[in-house]
Amino acid sequence: MKIAVLPGDGIGPEIVAQAVKVIKAMNIGAQMQEAPIGGAGYEAAGDPLPEATLKLAKESDAVLLGAVGDWKYDTLPRDKRPERGLLRIRKELNLFANLRPAVLYPELASASTLKPEVVSGLDIMIVRELTGDIYFGQPRGISTLENGEREGINTMRYNESEIRRIGRVAFDIAMKRNKKVCSVDKANVLETTELWRQVMIELSKDYPEVELTHMYVDNAAMQLVRAPKQFDVMVTGNIFGDILSDEASMLTGSIGMLPSASLDENNKGMYEPSHGSAPDIAGKNIANPLATILSVSMMLRYTFNMAAEADRIEKAVGKVLANGVRTADIYTEGTAKVSCSEMGDAVVAAL
Ligand code: NAD
Repeated sequence: MKIAVLPGDGIGPEIVAQAVKVIKAMNIGAQMQEAPIGGAGYEAAGDPLPEATLKLAKESDAVLLGAVGDWKYDTLPRDKRPERGLLRIRKELNLFANLRPAVLYPELASASTLKPEVVSGLDIMIVRELTGDIYFGQPRGISTLENGEREGINTMRYNESEIRRIGRVAFDIAMKRNKKVCSVDKANVLETTELWRQVMIELSKDYPEVELTHMYVDNAAMQLVRAPKQFDVMVTGNIFGDILSDEASMLTGSIGMLPSASLDENNKGMYEPSHGSAPDIAGKNIANPLATILSVSMMLRYTFNMAAEADRIEKAVGKVLANGVRTADIYTEGTAKVSCSEMGDAVVAAL
C-alpha cells in the first residue's frame, strides 16, 4: 500500500498530520511519502504541481491530500495559482468519479440549520461525474457577434461511455449500502440528460437488486432540504453534482466533518476533506481534522477494499464524538473543546 501524502497549504499540514497518525496507528503496513502541492509546490519548485509530486502520485496506489490555497497567491498568474495544481492532478490521474458523503452523526444534529429530526442519522452518498459536462464541453468561450454584442457559450455534452462508467460506480456503491440509486437529471428539457436517463435505465438491468429512481434536478434540490433521509446514493453529472453536493454537505452543518474521494477506472483514488485550506485559522492548531481522518476511512474502503478497517475508523470517530470531544467548529456547551492535534490523539486512543 503506497500512499502519496500531499499536505498542501493553510490548515492542510495540521489536519494531514492527524490523518497520518491514524494510518500509523492502524498498523496496516502502509508506506507513506510526502510531497508539496498548491502554494507549497509553488514555493518549493515554482509550480503548484511540481513534476516530482505528480510522479509520486502516479506511482502510488492512493493520494491523501490536505487542501490548497492561500490569499497571498491570489495575485500570481493563473497557471501558478494553488488551485491549478489541484485541477491538474485530478486530470492527470483521470479521476472521473467524485464521491461526497453527507453523513450526520446523531451527536452533531444540533449543528445543522435544519431541524434535528429532519437530518439526524442522515447518510447520503453523492456520486458526481467530474471530467465532463458543461465544464469541459466544446465549443466554449466569449465572442463578439456581427452586431457588436458579446455572447458567452458553454456546451453541455456527455457520451454514452462517460455516463455508463459513472453509473457503474454509483450502482457498485449502492450494492455495498442500501441498494438505492437516485439518478438526477433534467431530462424534460435537456437532451444530454435524456440520454443520461436512458443509459442509467439500461445499466440498471445489470443490477437487479438495486432500486433505480429518477429525479429532476430542481426537485432534487428541494427534496434535499425537505426530506433528505429518503436518499441513499445519488448520481449526477458534473454541474448538477457540484451544486447538490455542496447543498447536501451543509445539511450536516459542519464542513470540518466531510470527507471526499475522487476515483479513476481502477479505483485508484485521491482522498481529501471537502473543505478548503481555511487560511483564517491556519497555524493555530484549532482546525477539525475529522474530515481528513474520515477521508482515510474512504481510502481503505474504496481503493484498498478494507471495509472492516474503514468501519473501525468511523466507529472510533463516532466514539470520540459520543464522549463529547469537540474541536472549536463543532463545539457546543457541555462538551470538551480540544485542539486539532488533541482530536487526532483522541481518535487514535479510540482506535
Ligand atoms: P474554506 O473551506 O477553506 O473555509 C470556509 C470556512 O470554514 C472558514 O471560516 C474556515 O475557517 C472554516 N473551515 C474550513 N475547514 C475547517 C476545518 N477543518 N475546521 C474548522 N473550520 C474549518 O473555504 P474558503 O475560505 O472559501 O477558501 C479558503 C482557501 O481554500 C481559498 O484559497 C480557496 O481557493 C481554497 N479552497 C481549496 C479547496 C481544496 O483544496 N480542495 C476547496 C475549497 C477552497
